Amino acid sequence: MMSRILNAMTTATYDYLVIGGGSGGLASARRAAEFGVKVAIIEQGAWGGTCVNVGCVPKKVMFNAAAHAEYIRDHKDYGFNVEKKEFNFAKLKKARDDYIKRLNKIYAKNLENSKVDKILGHAKFTEDRCVEVNDKKYFAPHILIATGGHPTVPAIPGAEYGITSDGFFELEQLPKKAVVVGAGYIAIEIAGIFNALGSDTSMLIRHDKVLRSFDDMISTSVTTHAEESGIHIYKQTHTVECDKQGHIIVDEYQNTKNPNIYALGDVCGKFLLTPVAIAAGRLLAHRLFDKGKEHVKMDYSDIPTVIFSHPPVGTIGISQGEAESKYGRENIKIYHSAFTPMYFAITERKEKCHMKLVCLLPEEKVIGLHIVGLASDEMLQGFAVAVKMGATKAQFDQTVAIHPTSAEELVTMR
Ligand SMILES: Cc1cc2nc3c(=O)[nH]c(=O)nc-3n(C[C@H](O)[C@H](O)[C@H](O)COP(=O)(O)OP(=O)(O)OC[C@H]3O[C@@H](n4cnc5c(N)ncnc54)[C@H](O)[C@@H]3O)c2cc1C
Repeated sequence: MMSRILNAMTTATYDYLVIGGGSGGLASARRAAEFGVKVAIIEQGAWGGTCVNVGCVPKKVMFNAAAHAEYIRDHKDYGFNVEKKEFNFAKLKKARDDYIKRLNKIYAKNLENSKVDKILGHAKFTEDRCVEVNDKKYFAPHILIATGGHPTVPAIPGAEYGITSDGFFELEQLPKKAVVVGAGYIAIEIAGIFNALGSDTSMLIRHDKVLRSFDDMISTSVTTHAEESGIHIYKQTHTVECDKQGHIIVDEYQNTKNPNIYALGDVCGKFLLTPVAIAAGRLLAHRLFDKGKEHVKMDYSDIPTVIFSHPPVGTIGISQGEAESKYGRENIKIYHSAFTPMYFAITERKEKCHMKLVCLLPEEKVIGLHIVGLASDEMLQGFAVAVKMGATKAQFDQTVAIHPTSAEELVTMR
């Protein structure tokens, strides 16, 4: 009798167990619960995962702060007698941290509203279809791994004095000098924030440009903008060899090699973006528990991406280089535009906007759309719908322009 009671206390059974209370895990757990199945989600840290706690959300607050610093420079040109007298980094951090705490509570409440059981602690697989958390065993026929990723620290002398992007969000004061190692989107975003807020900022990059996996127009202009804005970029700097990342390999339905164990989001190392993890998580819930939707899967093509650099970048589809090698140069037509947005017409600070459409002949289907410039971050979403629907250049041109905006350039390019 005693052992049966003990057993009941130390085990629990669910229909669906989700490991990781971040973007993908939360979305999948809540969607699965809508189908009436018994769901639990396990989280070892704060609800919301990377995006909410050490990713998109605090990063966007810092980006907005940096944008204010830039606008203050322009105020005099718009007739305002305003100068940057003092910047209280600690006040900004507190406001940001308080906002995140509110979000943590909202995410926890949403789970309760969705009738998803919350389990706090570190999950580990111990036996088949079983996960152990704090010495208690949880069984389920379906288990999702949505444990995200984590920053890697290069194995170089002095690395112990550095911080990762997680550490960036713990900073209590703005450093006088900052060196950012890396050339990916998070590196350029953080370097842009440091620089705009007033740190003497340097970047160490392995090649000659940042964002090398993007269209050349993007990597060239973001690198130029960064240098012109005062970031010192040290090129061809080799700090370390990369080792294996240890991502989980899944098929197009998020199945791992282990039957009924699934993985999605950053832990799979593909398209490390919050909306991708959310969409994949929800689709998996439909596939597993929604009758008639057994074949739904994530479409990883044409995923719009924004980089909150200074200025921001918006990009969808393939780069000019990729298009030329895939279809042949003779089958690709490029439209390009470079101009100074009207905002800068009367300011001393000038920041060019670059736009590019990559079109596939003969219909001139738009297969790549790339923007670098003020407000690209807000411009992209609508155009992403058009690209996803397979719009042609002629259809772009048939759309009446909105004037005066930067976006109108995308429907008037010659
Ligand atoms: C600095 C930075 C800026 C970013 N900016 C953007 C942006 O602007 N836009 C965008 O779309 N994306 C951005 N991202 C990426 C985005 O945050 C991730 O793509 C997204 O959070 C991935 O979701 P996920 O569910 O895969 O993992 P996560 O959100 O990382 O969630 C995984 C969760 O699993 C938990 N966990 C891990 N192991 C265990 C375990 N064994 N037991 C229990 N819990 C466990 C972790 O604590 C974590 O909460 C950014 C990321 C970073 C680092």
